[in-house]
Amino acid sequence: MFLFLLLGVVSCRRAPSRPNILFLSIDTLRADRIGYTGYGRPTTPNLDRFAREAYRFTDVLAQAPSTWSSHRSLFTSLYPSVHKQGQSRQSSSIPYSMASILRDNGYHTAGFVDGGYLRAAFGFGHGFDLYDDDSKRDRPRVGIGRLGLAGINPKVRAWFEAKPKQPFFLFVHTYDVHCPYTPPEPYFGKFSGWYKGVLQVQGECGASFNGTRLSDEDYRYLSDLYDGGIAYMDNQLEALFRIFRDAGLFDDMMVIVTSDHGESLGERGYVGHNRQYDEELQIPLVWRVPGHAGGVVREPSQSIDILPTMCSILGIDPRIEMQGKDLLSCMQGEASFEGTRMRMSEGTFGHALRFDDRFKIVLRKSGSYELFDLRRDPGELATVNDDGVAKEMLGKYRAWYKQNRPLYDRFKKTVKTEVDEETKEQLEELGYAGDE
Ligand SMILES: [Zn+2]
Repeated sequence: MFLFLLLGVVSCRRAPSRPNILFLSIDTLRADRIGYTGYGRPTTPNLDRFAREAYRFTDVLAQAPSTWSSHRSLFTSLYPSVHKQGQSRQSSSIPYSMASILRDNGYHTAGFVDGGYLRAAFGFGHGFDLYDDDSKRDRPRVGIGRLGLAGINPKVRAWFEAKPKQPFFLFVHTYDVHCPYTPPEPYFGKFSGWYKGVLQVQGECGASFNGTRLSDEDYRYLSDLYDGGIAYMDNQLEALFRIFRDAGLFDDMMVIVTSDHGESLGERGYVGHNRQYDEELQIPLVWRVPGHAGGVVREPSQSIDILPTMCSILGIDPRIEMQGKDLLSCMQGEASFEGTRMRMSEGTFGHALRFDDRFKIVLRKSGSYELFDLRRDPGELATVNDDGVAKEMLGKYRAWYKQNRPLYDRFKKTVKTEVDEETKEQLEELGYAGDE
């Protein structure tokens, strides 16, 4: 009788809600080029309209200025030096990911990605019931080897029309905004029609412009083409949302839109990513939670916070150690970690350290550093000479590292990732000659 009553109590408990989830990663999307963060140009009318009913984060740091590392952090809530992915194509095998955690908790998991470093060969298929990484292409190669949302959306529609099990976790990734900044017309000329120079972008990618003498006009042209790519992506984003709107499902879905890093477009005479300045590190995050009104979230955040926050919203205990923070209470305006936690981006050429929304250190592997006061100088145009501030930040970083050392040792074993010729070719087209 007692057992019966106990079972009755357990089965009557309201199960945590499990909404369908759409997670969209728009590769290379800078936070300051979209409407909801205050950009003056109409680059993202559809994302902005959607963002009005979502949480809109204003200060989100990518964990790395590169695709492989940053996405791995997103999916594991671990810093790049812990998961070790993206370093000379070495990787640690980590037995979980966002997808596997959700699958273990009843989700059907599907991923449709734009190839490159998101291919299953780099470990991203882990935890997915279905992972379409565009590696089995039968279409002719035209220009850069990527599909973009225009090619991915029909695959998502076909998958959805085949009635996948619910709840589902759908991950979509696109290179629409990534170099070579050549969206189709009318987006190519949308902001760049004024240019009369000779710079050719066809077949060129990000960093390949470095080393060439470019005028201010040329940089402005690249930057305007990049904006055109965002407007093109935004148009396709609406088409992706429509797949679920048409079925009456969209309003009840959890939808997350973010990126893996930004892009330098002439700042400090550089084009591309892989460095630690904010135009490459600040990313958008728009998060619609069904039943929540949403609003602006100014809490200093980072991409490793997404997984613990998602688990918190869904009532999932993933039983893993995560380096990110659960931001749910911050989203609801009840708490703040400001000033009490470290945020860090890690890359091949060094780290960026933040402890609040003001000071930032770019720390190189040699030990030399640059200190910036982002409140006075958001463009990081002049370094600040304040040994006191720098010493305090580096001291806090060393203490944090010491405390986290066991985690850094946990996933020590690395394996070299071998890639086939076709993947190598696509990576080259995306501007990745050797390492990320
Ligand atoms: Zn990327």
